[in-house]
Amino acid sequence: MRLGALEAGGTKMVCAIGDETGRIFEQISIPTETPDITMPKLIAYFEERKVDALGIASFGPIELDREDPKYGYITTSTKKAWIDFDMVGSFACALRCPIGFDTDVNGSVLGEVTFGQAKGKSCVIYLTIGTGIGGGIYIEGNLLHGMLHPEAGHVLIRKRSDDRYAGKCPYHGDCLEGLAAGPAIEERWGKKAVELADRPEVWDMEADYIAQALVGYILTLSPEMIILGGGVMHQEQLFPLIRAKVKEFLGGYIQAKEIEDIEHYIVPASLHDDQGIMGCLELARRAATEK
Ligand code: ADP
Ligand code: ZN
Repeated sequence: MRLGALEAGGTKMVCAIGDETGRIFEQISIPTETPDITMPKLIAYFEERKVDALGIASFGPIELDREDPKYGYITTSTKKAWIDFDMVGSFACALRCPIGFDTDVNGSVLGEVTFGQAKGKSCVIYLTIGTGIGGGIYIEGNLLHGMLHPEAGHVLIRKRSDDRYAGKCPYHGDCLEGLAAGPAIEERWGKKAVELADRPEVWDMEADYIAQALVGYILTLSPEMIILGGGVMHQEQLFPLIRAKVKEFLGGYIQAKEIEDIEHYIVPASLHDDQGIMGCLELARRAATEK
């Protein structure tokens, strides 16, 4: 099958052509401007390449309820020009092929479960910590949608008493994203995150906040693996700090081999940053076979 993959991000659109084995034949990146400018380019790319199905993993929030008249829309995005935009409808109308659609982070977890280190596992979380924080959840063969779709980046956590920073989330102030996404790190410490690499206090606080959230997910969903991606996780020193704090915060309550072997439980992404686009190929395959 000739499958199209679109990772729709707030800053760039990654388009690729591949197949159901996860092979990627070609890939390009187009800046995300307004739908008027960007959509014709995306449609032309996939039209010229005659895809059998398209998988889209998109920034959001998005509407995933197939019964809703706005299924396939971007809903209340912070990208103003894309609010109420009919993403799936626009492609379906032009390409006339099956279209799979999900959140960007659900795409990433699907890539890892189908082609990466999480193959064979039935409950896996992928958390990205970048400009924002988002979580994709794969549970017993499906991507979790529920009422809307998980918004795991906005969970409420305890702010540390030594943290004077108010938090950056426009909705909640000091939720996880408000305290721990890249822009919050940069505003709190007054420097680009990458330039703070040698400041241990920065990463100790960051690990604390991420670990608090992970403990919440562990206790609620009982995942078999947690994958951490996104720009902030390029700070590899975070991994051992997060693992130690997760163990500390669990307080010995959870007895499981995964927690004992926590190096293989809380892990970086495994597909050389292609987990998202490969997840889109699987979304496309699933859409094609559904039909
Ligand atoms: P996006 O979330 O927009 O898709 P990224 O996942 O790359 O993009 O996240 C960008 C954020 O990650 C920036 O806000 C920046 O603060 C942070 N970041 C990027 N690279 C690094 C790095 N090497 N170390 C620490 N933080 C980084
Ligand atoms: Zn929030």
